[in-house]
Amino acid sequence: MLSLPYRGRFAPSPTGPLHLGSMLAAFGSWLLARHAHGRWLIRIEDVDPPREVPGAAEQQLATLAAFGLHTDEPVQYQSQRHALYHAASERLLAQGKAFHCHCSRADLTSQHGIHRHCAASQQREHPAIRLRVTDGSHVIFNDALQGPIAQDVDRDVGDFVLLRADGCWAYQLAVVVDDAEQRIGHVVRGADLVDSTPRQILLQQALGVPTPHYLHLPLLLDADGHKLSKSLAAMPVDASAPLPVLRWLWAALGQAPATLDAAATVAELLQHAVAGFEPGRLQKESRIVAGSPPA
Ligand code: GLU
Repeated sequence: MLSLPYRGRFAPSPTGPLHLGSMLAAFGSWLLARHAHGRWLIRIEDVDPPREVPGAAEQQLATLAAFGLHTDEPVQYQSQRHALYHAASERLLAQGKAFHCHCSRADLTSQHGIHRHCAASQQREHPAIRLRVTDGSHVIFNDALQGPIAQDVDRDVGDFVLLRADGCWAYQLAVVVDDAEQRIGHVVRGADLVDSTPRQILLQQALGVPTPHYLHLPLLLDADGHKLSKSLAAMPVDASAPLPVLRWLWAALGQAPATLDAAATVAELLQHAVAGFEPGRLQKESRIVAGSPPA
């Protein structure tokens, strides 16, 4: 495990405008970094061109700026870091910890889509690269908010992809290489990614890099206790009116609303937020009482 100095990050994929769910991760990770007098970095995770929307990265950065959330170091773009991913995958291949795989999705149906051994019906011109997940790969980690999380990665996930057959680096490899290379000691992100963490820990172990501390922010629930509807969670935030959104996110992070009452500008609000932030008030789940988007 890593210790201080605290380095955190927010790492959006440029697949569209930032929405309430992603802004919760941005604001939450920023608050925790500021509370720890640490650094906070922005990384654009543009490794998946088929899913990307032109102009989305610039728009996301403009939204973060409108919300007063500024990176402490130059923004990194995964599209410019392929050499690092290549070097890591070459190392894993050379050590026999990763392998080329020609299996298609259809080839894996007999293994319920979980790769445990190759069953390719034909050779691909450009095979994928997978991490070999050995039998008994039981990963357990202690999430700072969600508590202990365990996963049998061999059984539940199988040998997972590092380089896709379409030539794109997989999120799992890119995020692990970058978190290590940028010396990120604290990963704070949405609860939707908690299932990826055991894979990332196995990959860190295979690469011989440290495992950061993890905190997965609250899952947003509606007033009835149901997972916040996709349409609400995916609602783009209005960058021209940051104050109501920041107040909404503050409440979703379990913080006392009155702390921000007097703030009239973004700068004031963030100042009050850092001074009044209480990590102990974060909950595993957050019920959005109003059940509605920020006014
Ligand atoms: N790029 C990922 C996403 O937007 C987040 C990666 C992470 O925080 O680890 O969902």
